Amino acid sequence: MSMEDIVCIARQTLSTILDSGATSTLIMNCDVFWTYSEVEKVNVRTANHGTLATSGHGDCVVDLTINRRTSRVHLMHCLNAPGTFINLLSVGYMLKKGWECNFRPFPACCELVYHNQVLGSLPMLGNLFFVDLKFLTPDSLSIRMKRPEISAFAHVPLSWDLWHAWLGHPSGDAVKYLPIFATGIKLDVSTALQRCEPCIMAKHPRKPYPSSDMPCAMQMLDLIHSDLCGPFPIATPHGKYHFVIFLDDHTNLLNLQLLATRDQALEAWTLVRKRWENHAERTVKVFHSDNGGEFISRAFTESLAAAGIK
Ligand SMILES: [Zn+2]
Repeated sequence: MSMEDIVCIARQTLSTILDSGATSTLIMNCDVFWTYSEVEKVNVRTANHGTLATSGHGDCVVDLTINRRTSRVHLMHCLNAPGTFINLLSVGYMLKKGWECNFRPFPACCELVYHNQVLGSLPMLGNLFFVDLKFLTPDSLSIRMKRPEISAFAHVPLSWDLWHAWLGHPSGDAVKYLPIFATGIKLDVSTALQRCEPCIMAKHPRKPYPSSDMPCAMQMLDLIHSDLCGPFPIATPHGKYHFVIFLDDHTNLLNLQLLATRDQALEAWTLVRKRWENHAERTVKVFHSDNGGEFISRAFTESLAAAGIK
């Protein structure tokens, strides 16, 4: 570290920098540790061929603020080095735990990404990247619990519930047989399988629809029902937000087409109609819909009229 860097640090109120040379995160103050062990103290080699003594190691909890956005981060396996004059966040350790530190020129900055979520960019000051970390103590956390939490290192117990969710919500028995029929299953049996709310909602039976008194159409394509649903909040991988269905009343033959926009309903109908008419060697007689905007549009009604469909 050059003289210029040291002057830059002296002017800074932030007490942590990103360090691509450090193999472990070094923390000056032992008071900010949540866990602390004095066994296996190590000396850390410094870049100028010196050594830095450490007093212990443990975990810390910090609020990381970039561009006024704050995320909570657990720092695991930090070394307490009272002799260092600034905290060093190990870039190598972060990369191992799923972080990306993308250094970019013009203007020089370091973009921090955690599991594809961009947290923001740190500007370069005097060849250094300062990180706005606020160290939390157990007391301070209780009044700040509502922050969104990011943890690169949190331990999740491998409970029955977690396996139930991972396996796509099978029955309780299927989950309990898992350790018998599969090898290598790690399981924390201290908590029993809980009632799963998504299962209760998703597997809830409903009463059958009452059967209709209306006589069904005499032949295929005599009557087609159609409805359009959407927009859904999440698009398919191909950018489709809607779907339209066409149901033949006589055969119950159903066709579903995905649509990016509602006005694609006509294109979908033309495709399905031609396919079905070609297959049945008959033409569609009646088209029935809920008169949604896409079905009473001029283009759609003209298309039906041109094909002689009521
Ligand atoms: Zn479930």
